[in-house]
Amino acid sequence: MRAYLPAYEMETPRDLAAALQRMAAEPGVWRAFAGGTDLMVLLEAGKLPHRKFLNIWNLAELRGIAVSSEHVTLGALTTYAEVQRHEILAREFPLLCRAAAETGSVATQNRGTLGGNIANASPAADSPPALIVYGAEIEIVAAGGARWVPYASFHSGYKQMNLRAGELIRAIRMARPRGAAWKQYFRKVGTRRAQAISKICFAAAGRVESGRIADVRIALASVAPAVLRAVRAEELLRGRRAADVYLRAAQDALSAEIAPIDDMRSTARYRRHVARNLLAEFVEVLAG
Ligand SMILES: Cc1cc2nc3c(=O)[nH]c(=O)nc-3n(C[C@H](O)[C@H](O)[C@H](O)COP(=O)(O)OP(=O)(O)OC[C@H]3O[C@@H](n4cnc5c(N)ncnc54)[C@H](O)[C@@H]3O)c2cc1C
Repeated sequence: MRAYLPAYEMETPRDLAAALQRMAAEPGVWRAFAGGTDLMVLLEAGKLPHRKFLNIWNLAELRGIAVSSEHVTLGALTTYAEVQRHEILAREFPLLCRAAAETGSVATQNRGTLGGNIANASPAADSPPALIVYGAEIEIVAAGGARWVPYASFHSGYKQMNLRAGELIRAIRMARPRGAAWKQYFRKVGTRRAQAISKICFAAAGRVESGRIADVRIALASVAPAVLRAVRAEELLRGRRAADVYLRAAQDALSAEIAPIDDMRSTARYRRHVARNLLAEFVEVLAG
C-alpha cells in the first residue's frame, strides 16, 4: 500500500482579507486548501508540486447559504451534505441536489466543497452540469477587489479556468426560478451506482408551454475537455412540440458538439452512445 506524504507547509489565515493578502504577497505560491478531498489524493500520490497551502476551511466569508427573493447564494465552502439538507435547494434546484447526492461517499460529501469542485476543474466533475443549467455565476475575490463571472464561461479548456494567481472563489449564485415550472432531468452514469467517477453526467431542464418546448438547457460532463453546454442540441429542441421532436437530428447535433475520449473509465464510442440515449430520455420527460 502507498503511504507517501511529502513535507508541506499549511497556514490558517484568520479571515478572508488575511488569506487574500498572503496570496497577493507571493502570487502563485500559496494554494487554497478547502475540504482537501482532491488535494490529498494528489499530495499523497506525489503528483502535487505545491508545498504551501492556505487552510481556508474556517473562513466564515466563504460559508453559508443565503436566500433572497432573487437568488440563492452558496459560499464556496458549501459541502455536498449541506446542499442536500437545504430545503429551498431541494425544491428549486433539484439537479444540484442530485449531483451532490451522487458525489463520492458520505465522507466525501461531508468534506468536499462546491468551490473545490469548480476550481479543481475536472471535466468529469458532477456539480458543473447542474450549475450551467441553472445559469450560475461565481464571485471571485482578490486583495484588489471582487468580480462576478458567468460560470458557463469560467472553464476555457482542459483544466483551464478564469482564475488568476491570488484569487479565490468566494460564492456561487443562482437566480431563483420564476413563472412556469421547468421539467428537470439528471443522470450520472458510472461503473457503479455509488463512489464512481462519471463516464458521463447529464443535467437538463426544459419549460413546456402548450405542448411546445419554450426553453431548454442541457449540460454534460465527461464528454469534452471541459464541462459543456449543448447549445446546438438545445436549438433543435427549442420551439418544437415536445411530443413530436425530430429526435435523430437533435441527437446528431449533440453527437457533433461533444468530443469524448477513450480513457480508463470508458470509451468515446460508449460515451457518445449514452449521451444520445440520455437526450432521448430527457425528451421523453419533456413530452410526458
Ligand atoms: C473518494 C473520492 C470520491 C470522489 N467522488 C467524486 C464524484 O463522484 N464527483 C465529483 O465531482 N468529484 C468527486 N471527488 C472529487 C472531490 O471530492 C470534489 O471535487 C470536491 O468538491 C473537491 O472539494 P474540496 O473542498 O475537497 O477541494 P480541495 O481538495 O480542497 O481543492 C481542490 C482544488 O480547488 C482549489 N480550491 C478549493 N477551494 C477553492 C476556492 N474557494 N477558491 C479557489 N480555489 C479553491 C484548491 O486549491 C485545489 O486546487 C471525489 C474525491 C474522492 C477523494
